[in-house]
Amino acid sequence: MDCPHCHQLLSAIEVETSDGHTHNIEECLNCGGHFIEPYLSNFITVETARNVDSVLPKTHAVPATSPVCPKCGQIMPSIKDDVVPQTVTVFTCPNNHGDFFPKEQLFLFKRAQQSKIYYHKLWGIPLKSAFSVLIPVLVIFSFATLLPSIIEQVGTSQETRIKASEILTPPLITPISSTQVLISFSTQKPAKTSIQFTQGLTQTFTVSTTRQTNHLLSVENLEPSTTYRYVIIIDVDGRSVTTSPYTFSTP
Ligand SMILES: [Zn+2]
Ligand SMILES: [Zn+2]
Repeated sequence: MDCPHCHQLLSAIEVETSDGHTHNIEECLNCGGHFIEPYLSNFITVETARNVDSVLPKTHAVPATSPVCPKCGQIMPSIKDDVVPQTVTVFTCPNNHGDFFPKEQLFLFKRAQQSKIYYHKLWGIPLKSAFSVLIPVLVIFSFATLLPSIIEQVGTSQETRIKASEILTPPLITPISSTQVLISFSTQKPAKTSIQFTQGLTQTFTVSTTRQTNHLLSVENLEPSTTYRYVIIIDVDGRSVTTSPYTFSTP
């Protein structure tokens, strides 16, 4: 793949994300930019972003032309959304192939995102939606590969299996500290939701008491370096469905 900005060959580098998995992102050694698959920038920690953005580019000259997506060749517009501060530039493929962060922008974005989360936490102001801090995803229901694919429907004798991807986005884990994480996800229809922990904790948290599509839970007093397992319970049209288990580990 070629760099969206300077069209030099991109090289894949491995990063560890906040949920403990490793992923590849594409780095341009010429201009220092990074092309990252959709959604993934939300999982990268501030520290990882700092390391990744410490790459020394060969050139600081950025072309005046708009970047183009290395996968589809479409012009990548910059994200105009209050998720990205006005002083930070992030480009995104209109066909949702990924986001391009010119040199330094990944670190600046992650720092701003973290500050916004801290601000809400410190002032006790609930985030209106997880998507006020997360890089938006245009086609959020195309992430079936990240999901446990089956939802077990409970409460009926006849077992019905529903594809999880038809009901919700994969939950995003945003660590605030080694003892606190935010869990966020969206449902396709407005729903009441709760999260039941089955490992690391045995507790059920109500996430959304009224029917809505964006769901956010802050879980505190966790143990550092611990794996947690949970299921999401979704009340859709008066029926309760439970997802397959998800896991995350605290830093
Ligand atoms: Zn480049
Ligand atoms: Zn594209």
